[in-house]
Amino acid sequence: MNLIKSWLMSVLFFISIIPAISMAEKHHADTLTFKSIKVSENIWMLQGKGGNIALMTGQQGLLMVDDDYKVMSNALIEEVKKFGGLAKLTYIINTHWHGDHTQGNLALGSHAHIVAHDNVRARLLTSQEIKLFKMVSEPYPEVALPDVTYTRSMKLYINNEEVNIVHYATGHTDGDSIVFFKKANVVHMGDHHFSGFFPFVDLDHGGNVLHMAENVKAVLAIINDKTKVIPGHGPLSSKSDLQDFYDMLIGTSAEVKNMKDQGLNLDQIKSKGLSKRWESWTDGFISTEVWIDTLYNSLL
Ligand SMILES: [Zn+2]
Repeated sequence: MNLIKSWLMSVLFFISIIPAISMAEKHHADTLTFKSIKVSENIWMLQGKGGNIALMTGQQGLLMVDDDYKVMSNALIEEVKKFGGLAKLTYIINTHWHGDHTQGNLALGSHAHIVAHDNVRARLLTSQEIKLFKMVSEPYPEVALPDVTYTRSMKLYINNEEVNIVHYATGHTDGDSIVFFKKANVVHMGDHHFSGFFPFVDLDHGGNVLHMAENVKAVLAIINDKTKVIPGHGPLSSKSDLQDFYDMLIGTSAEVKNMKDQGLNLDQIKSKGLSKRWESWTDGFISTEVWIDTLYNSLL
């Protein structure tokens, strides 16, 4: 009886762990590979684990915007082989200092110039902490630091394209670049656009929701209905998706401001919540509660 019982237990045990293993493997495979989506004739959007990457190809070499987490570097190097390999890599642009956009600098930095706003280099030189995600970023070695920095805006001319890199102040962080590919009519928004879900806004490192909204409004004024919008996170988007994101920033800010003006404190606002209209925006990784927190603190 005991033998049968123990045999049965071990069979049940194996049955129960098989799905767990295959789920884990599936997850593993899903997160450590890249999917390349064609955006224009010579620009691709690479989706991995962290921020979306833009990759421009051409006679004069590859230009990459952002380079994902360190754990994705081998997969990124593999993916880049499809476009000529690291030997072709000429420029990397970091839209801001966060690790999900810059850790690839460690493996790729020796192959290309890294371009970013002044404040990105300054932050990567020292350790940074994001309390919300309990994440500490150690100082980057020289090879992984931006070696070309700018203050307001700069242009790169490569592959018959004008790449306009513009600083938008105190939006998502204190060192955000938005990258415009003029001829292709493509824009990489960095983390000034989370397409379809509440964004992370890094208030501890110079970010502010109201300024982010102003910056997005300024971009909306210079792009058109045919512009391909690469968001920092989320699917390849359009001007109307960016408009939806702007409307959400403005709409949710107004709701929190209204409650604050009525004398409600942060806890009371959280328990009241936002209107149903914004329900679908909680799908991502920032909950309504965290978003209310961010809005409340941006209004201070
Ligand atoms: Zn970010």
